[in-house]
Parts: sequence; C-alpha cells; structure tokens
Amino acid sequence: MERTILNTLRAMDTSDGAGVRLKRALGSTPAVRLDPFLMLDAFSSDNPEDYIAGFPPHPHRGFETVTYLVEGHMRHRDHLGNEGDLKQGGVQWMTAGRGIIHEEMPQQKDGLLRGFQLWINLPAAEKMQPAGYRDVADHEMPRLDLASGGQVKAIAGEVTIAGQTLSAPLKGGKTDPLYLDVILRPDETLTVPVLSGYNAFMYLFEGRVSVAEATLESDHLATFTDGDSVTLVAGKKGARLLLLAGKPLGEPIAQYGPFVMNTQDEINQALRDYRDGTLTAEASRL
Ligand code: MN
Repeated sequence: MERTILNTLRAMDTSDGAGVRLKRALGSTPAVRLDPFLMLDAFSSDNPEDYIAGFPPHPHRGFETVTYLVEGHMRHRDHLGNEGDLKQGGVQWMTAGRGIIHEEMPQQKDGLLRGFQLWINLPAAEKMQPAGYRDVADHEMPRLDLASGGQVKAIAGEVTIAGQTLSAPLKGGKTDPLYLDVILRPDETLTVPVLSGYNAFMYLFEGRVSVAEATLESDHLATFTDGDSVTLVAGKKGARLLLLAGKPLGEPIAQYGPFVMNTQDEINQALRDYRDGTLTAEASRL
C-alpha cells in the first residue's frame, strides 16, 4: 500500500549552540516528534555570522545524533579525545549513550554552510551504553543514479530501488533507521519502499514535491501514513529532500535539553551527574 502525506509542518526559525541560526523541522515542541526521531535541525547560510560561533562544549545523554554536512566543513571533538573532520557530503554518527561532552565547530570563515542534525532516540536498555562515534566520508556512501536523471544517496540503512540495493555503511540498532538524500530532476518520479509499521517523514529543502494529491513546499516536513512504499513526484524545478524512516520504540520520553531519558528521575540523575562531573564514564579531555 502506498503511503500518503499525513501532516505537513513548516520548519521553525530558531537558534542554538552559541547562536547558530537554524530551522527546526522536528522537535520544536514535544508534540512535534516522530518516534524514534526526536529532532531534525536544518542549517543553511552563506553568512558566517549565522554559524561561525558553532556549538562549544556541551553534553548529551540517552540518544544518538547524526550530523550530515551537505556543504562546508565542521570539526568535532569530544571528551574521549576523538577528533573528526566533517567535510562536504560527510556524516557523523554519535551515540551519546551514558554521556558525551563534545563541541561542533564550523571550520570555514566564509562560504555556504549547509547541513542537518538529526536526533534518534535509544531504547531504555541502551541509553546508558558507552559513548561512541563514527565518521563516514561522502565517497563511502552508496548512490543510485536514476534513469531519469536524479540520484539517491544512502546515509544510513538499506533500501532496494528499481532492483538495486543501496546499503549504507551506517546501520542503526533497534530503531533501524533509513536515511536517504534524494535529488529529483523536474517532474521526475521515484518510488521508495519503506517498511510498513515504521514511522516515516521527508524534509524538503529544494524545489517542490508531490505525494498523491498533496504538494510540499521547500523548508517543510511531511509525515506519512503507514504503508510499504512512497511515491515522490518532483515539481517543475526538481526537488531535493531527506527521506527518513525508523522503527518506533513506543517508550515514554523525558527530555531536558540535551538529555533524553524515559523518566523524570533519570533526567534529574543526568543533571546531577553533569554537575558532579560524572555524566561521562571517562574524565573529559576537552
Ligand atoms: Mn551536540
């Protein structure tokens, strides 16, 4: 059965970190989440004042962050001494687990910085696992060139389109996320299989796209009804979008900023741990 658009939402202008201007497509309020996805931020600016201050050291506990850089250059450092360079087209997958303290800083002083940060929840049993992260460069991610000119890039998960399987080097755990960057030429049509029972949405950041009778404008997010595939039809100027799907956890969520747990007691514990310097299992090298 084909999925159709259930709800559409315009991304909200906001700022985070040390004053990075961004559009929050998911997660602007607790009501605007899609289990297991907690948040999606889009940042796009060619004005360094909008991004240069970056995200100085800050903590996370209880979930995963996936940062995808479409244009630009960011450096990541964490309390474990990991240092990563996120370059154009690259992705960084960070499992905060029990706790991580890290910074995310733009490395360019001019030019376009464009990308996304997605927050994916962890199941209760995995929230306190050791922190870890992985960087994947642009060329490591598989692509499918569509016969009609467009392209699908697999950032996470696995999908088979037109008989070709794209298997991304990044695979989630229990939430089994599928994360695709889809570029469509004018009027191009693409059908993507999406596992039934998984929550799915798209975020359109260029052009227009239609699903059945509904049309989505740029900087908008659309959630889908259940089904086993979604058919996208690009507008007259083409389209570029992120398509995501994940297995819902169905667990209670307690969130305080960068801490996402199941109960308020666990949030209070995270705040105490952060204050006492025991949020992370290791001493901070930041
Ligand atoms: Mn962070």
